[in-house]
This record gives sequence, structure tokens and C-alpha cells, in this order.
Amino acid sequence: MREEGPADWSKLLAPNDRLEKELFGNSNTGINFDKYEDIPVEATGEDCPTNVESFAELELGEIIMNNVAMSKYDKPTPVQKHAMPIIKKKRDLMACAQTGSGKTASFLVPILSQMFEEGQPEFLREQTNRNNRKQYPIALVLAPTRELASQIWEEARKFAYRSHVRPCVVYGGADIGAQMRDLQKGCHLLVATPGRLVDMLERGKVGLDHIRFVVLDEADRMLDMGFEPQIRRIVEKDTMPPTGKRRTLMFSATFPKEIQILARDFLHNYIFLAVGRVGSTSENITQKVVWVEENDKRSFLLDLLNASGPESLTLVFVETKKGADALDNFLYNEGYPSACIHGDRSQKEREEALRNFRSGKTPVLVATAVAARGLDIPNVKHVINFDLPSDIEEYVHRIGRTGRVGNLGLATSFFNEKNKNIVRDMVDLLIEAKQEVPSWIESIAYEARSMGGSGRRPQNKSRFGGSFGSRDYRQMGAGGGGTRGGGNQMRSNPMPQAFGGAPMGYGFHQGGGYGGSYGGAYHAPAAHPAHDWWGS
Ligand code: ADP
Ligand code: MG
Repeated sequence: MREEGPADWSKLLAPNDRLEKELFGNSNTGINFDKYEDIPVEATGEDCPTNVESFAELELGEIIMNNVAMSKYDKPTPVQKHAMPIIKKKRDLMACAQTGSGKTASFLVPILSQMFEEGQPEFLREQTNRNNRKQYPIALVLAPTRELASQIWEEARKFAYRSHVRPCVVYGGADIGAQMRDLQKGCHLLVATPGRLVDMLERGKVGLDHIRFVVLDEADRMLDMGFEPQIRRIVEKDTMPPTGKRRTLMFSATFPKEIQILARDFLHNYIFLAVGRVGSTSENITQKVVWVEENDKRSFLLDLLNASGPESLTLVFVETKKGADALDNFLYNEGYPSACIHGDRSQKEREEALRNFRSGKTPVLVATAVAARGLDIPNVKHVINFDLPSDIEEYVHRIGRTGRVGNLGLATSFFNEKNKNIVRDMVDLLIEAKQEVPSWIESIAYEARSMGGSGRRPQNKSRFGGSFGSRDYRQMGAGGGGTRGGGNQMRSNPMPQAFGGAPMGYGFHQGGGYGGSYGGAYHAPAAHPAHDWWGS
């Protein structure tokens, strides 16, 4: 091909039938987000850009508008309405929003739009005649797991369809040679898990010198998984332009102290966006806790599976890899089509299990928490905590697999002697989410409270005690932007007027239209109406 001056990146390239089918073939079926509109949103920070109501308002260019329509996204979700203009205005962003709220497109759409608008960077024009052995992406998205990274990459391919931008993905546990060959075909937007990216940097396959956008997706989870050294290595100790010279966006379901510190270190004069009851669960998930002794768990599980009918997808969480294999084998022997994912299974096995689950071929998926994190599995009807986790945040993440994007969901947890460590947080959470609280669990919680006093729970973890835990910490206390601490001691301080912040009682607790009509009674999943709960 001859180069006749720089290509115009803002113009639609020719369509490609085969690719179009692959990318948009099983697209979203037009979820009705109308009742989602009332979800409380709070954006704070200097000169906060105002939100939009439609994709059209943002002047995203013809490529994005074409691909938004192809994806059947009629209107933006609340997090998209707020985050897109902030990113478009070239501001840094710290966003807290619950799972399933549409965070992926909220950053991909404005980033790609700007990449199309700004066109082929100078360095790429110079590079065309040289070898491609080292790629210099313009945008980098870090994600905790390979499944999540692949999902983001797939979404990126949709929005980059008919453009000059080529998204790539790299993650651990897969053939690095194949990934390196794919990079060499060109990489403008790179989605990566932190470990594999460090590997690619050290092999000289990727250079971060020309990064304009960095996204940390599911930042809280990346820290939970111990990726902080790799993240700092990538963002702070390599050749990436410094904070302020690049745009940095962080997304997280919760906002504990560790994330606040990362935000302080990586972001420049950022906007803090809180969407919904962050770190909490929505009321469209019915949460049921049942007392089940260890020995009875298997037969109880079979009862639940029988009650839910063959076609509804059920995700079963167990604590250990060994436990996952054992339960998967048991279900298989009992004639239940199940699959299993955990960290010891190969990438191929995990992908196959996930594919069979999504398609309904094996409607029961047994998983450990780490392996299941971040998966976008639509229509999971039932999450079963066969083994409860030991901390409430993990519980919130797990049950977030159901009741997504407007669907009704059910979460059942097996509770016994072993789970007393989580009981107080569970009860607080059930009350906050307006769920039925069995009296036996209340008395256990009461016991735990009178025995443990207030000492056990770390201060910054007390986010279910009836107050909204994920706030812009810069607004709290006297320390302003430089304050390291989080949690309670700050929450009780008055907010400085300078930020124009809402008073503490801001409507996050009223819940607005957030699922009020749904009763607390327990239903087997089959009893749920087939349509989603806001009536599409
Ligand atoms: P999150 O990252 O917040 O958990 P995702 O970005 O994975 O959520 O989005 C959840 C689902 O909602 C995905 O299947 C996505 O395709 C769909 N979705 C996102 N935005 C829209 C929209 N504006 N209209 C319709 N569907 C959407
Ligand atoms: Mg996501």
C-alpha cells in the first residue's frame, strides 16, 4: 500500500459482512434502562462537566455512532451519561459503580472517539516504514482477569469496527507467542492483565511511551489479587507519560483506602463519580440465607437445582479449587449438566466451561471466587453460595453476578457454624437491601455483636452500617486532597463548602426507583417473571 499523507481516522471504513456478524451477531437485545434513570449519581470535583442524556449529544463522530447503533445501545446508562462527558472533556476520573451498570462502554466510547478524532499520531506515521516488533499503544486498559480482559477487548472491537484502530488483548495462562504475533499486526488499544503486560514490557514487545489513556478497570479487585506492584511498575516505573500528561481513569465497585491512595497517586485533579449504592447490592436481587450443615449441603443444592428448572443459569460458589472439582464431579454423577472454573484449570478449559455455561449447554457453573470475578454472564438467575466467603465485599461481588442490567436475580447462601465471622456484616447488608432477615441469623448477629464489641471490623470496612461508604474522600475532613485515611472518622466530619457538595443525607438511601416494588419473599427462580423487572 502506498502512503498518500496521513489517513483520516475519523471516517468510516468499508463494512465487512463476516466481521459484522461476528461482532454484533448476538448483540444485546435492547434492555430497557428507563427505570434505571432514577439511580442516584453524584459527581464531585473542580469544574465538573455536566452529564448528557443521549449518545448523540456528545458528538462522538460517525464511527462511534454507527457502532453504538449496531450494538443496539439506545441510550446511555447512568454511569455512561456521567462518565462519557467527563472523559470527553479530557478529565481524569475515579468512578464507583455497581457491576452490570455499563462501565465498559462508558470508557471505551469516549476514548475511541477521541482516538478517531485526533487521528494517526505522528510517531506512527514515522514508524510505518520501520519494523513492528515493538508496539506503542495509545490507550491501555488494565483488568484483573483474563476473562474480563477478553470481554473488554471484544467490546473494544465492536466500537472500533470500520475504523483504523486495532485493539489487542494479552493475558496470562495463554500462549505468549501467539499474543506477540498478534501485537505485531498493530496495536492501538491494548487490554491487558498486569502480569502479562509486565512480561511484554520486559521482552520489549510493548512500549508505553505514547500512552494517552490509561484505564484501571475493577481496580479494587486488582489490588485484592495482589497486582499493586505490577500496576505501579507499569504506571509509575516504565516509560509512560506521567500523571497529568496522560488521561487516567479508574473504575471500582468499592472505594476502600487502598484505592483512594492509588487514585491520589495516579490521577490528576480528578472527578469523583459515585453511581448507585456503591459497595452495596441492589434490591433487584432477592437474598436468601439458609442454615445448612456441611453434610447437608449437597442434597440441599440438588433441591435448589430441581426447583429452578433446567434452563435457568445457576452459578455455584465454593471456597477451594479442590472443592470445586469435587462438587462438579458430584453434580455430573448425579446427572446435572455442570461445568467448573478455577485457577488451576487451563485457559482453554475455562473458556470452554464459560462458553457452555453462557449457551446453556451446562447451565450449572461451579466456580471459585477469583476465577469468576468480572465475568459478564447475562441472565444468571441464581447465585448459590455453597460456601460463604469470609468477607462481605466478596459476598457482594458474588451476588452481583445475578440481577444484572435490570434483570431479577436470586442469591441463596448456605450458612452454618463456620460462617459466624461474616454474620454481622451480612445482617447489616440484608437490612440495607430491604431483604428478609431470618430471626435465627439476627440472634447470631446479636450474640456476635455483644461478644465482639466494635473492635473486630476494620474501620474502613464499615460501609454497610447505614451510611454510604463510597464518597469522594477529598470532601471529608480537613486534609482535603492529600488525606490518606478513609472510613468512619472522616465521614462524621462536615464537608467543606468549597466543593459545593451535597449534605451527607444525599439521596443514596432513598433508593429512588431502584427496585422498590420487589417483595422480600423467597421464590424459586422458575417463579420469576421472564421479563426484566423494569418492564421491558
Ligand atoms: P460493568 O462493567 O459495569 O459490570 P458492562 O460494561 O459489562 O458492566 O455492561 C453490562 C452489560 O450491559 C453488557 O452486556 C453490555 O453490553 C450492556 N450494556 C452496556 N451499556 C448499554 C447500553 N447503553 N444499552 C444497552 N446495553 C448496554
Ligand atoms: Mg466491568
